[in-house]
Amino acid sequence: MNKIQYCYHSHTYRCGHAIGEDEDYIKKAIEFGLKNYGVSDHVILPNIIQEGMRGPCTLLNNYLDSIKKLKEKYQKQINIYTGFECEYMPQYVEYYHSLLKEKKVDYLILGQHCYFKDNQVVWYHHLDRTTCLTQYTNHLIKGMSTGLFLYVAHPDLFMGFTDKWDDLTKECAQKIIDAAVKYDIPLEINLAHARVYGMREFAGVFTYYQYPFTPFWDMVAKSKAKVVIGFDAHRPIDVLYPGVEVVDYIVKATGVKPIYDLSIKDKKNKIL
Ligand SMILES: [Zn+2]
Ligand SMILES: [Zn+2]
Repeated sequence: MNKIQYCYHSHTYRCGHAIGEDEDYIKKAIEFGLKNYGVSDHVILPNIIQEGMRGPCTLLNNYLDSIKKLKEKYQKQINIYTGFECEYMPQYVEYYHSLLKEKKVDYLILGQHCYFKDNQVVWYHHLDRTTCLTQYTNHLIKGMSTGLFLYVAHPDLFMGFTDKWDDLTKECAQKIIDAAVKYDIPLEINLAHARVYGMREFAGVFTYYQYPFTPFWDMVAKSKAKVVIGFDAHRPIDVLYPGVEVVDYIVKATGVKPIYDLSIKDKKNKIL
């Protein structure tokens, strides 16, 4: 069995739905035996208050300082990186660019959960099914095309917006996978949902994890897309018990070949 050597997807209490001290996550990462650990809390956006989803901008410096201190304190045991998990939104592309350019963060990952229109949040699942799936797919692909992101977090998150694997969902999956190949950006097998909720029914016919969604990864396995693994930790204990069995299940079920050892020391993103 391959041992996972990295995790670039983890959160902090600042987002409002994760818990624990920053240092406790690092201690668990060392205990797990990771070589590389990246903190990628839900991105803090200027002038946006979204309680329970992301920290307010007043916490930005506190976030950056805290990780910087831990980076230094544990540098002999583990490589620590500062990041954010970001939604693609055209109005924030410049901001994301500046976070990287000013070296406030080492990397960004693309995780599409919602978007802002006129400073109001829009959740995909509040839209009608076709609009929701189409918008999610289009936004994700636009995000991939920016070159700002290290990888795509939970690309198959859209299976949470539906209970059917039909022509529309298959088309969304294929477009996302084709874009991953075109823009050479890895897709993440995300462990958070499976770890917490296990499997669920789709159209009452078959049972899969909502994500990683087996038929999606079947399609990935047939493509040239790169695959990474993300713990998506929201508690320190998630770093020690991330749900490795979920990765093994998806690998066995689909033949997909994830990268088990990923260093971002030299190549953090395409724009730098
Ligand atoms: Zn979260
Ligand atoms: Zn996410």
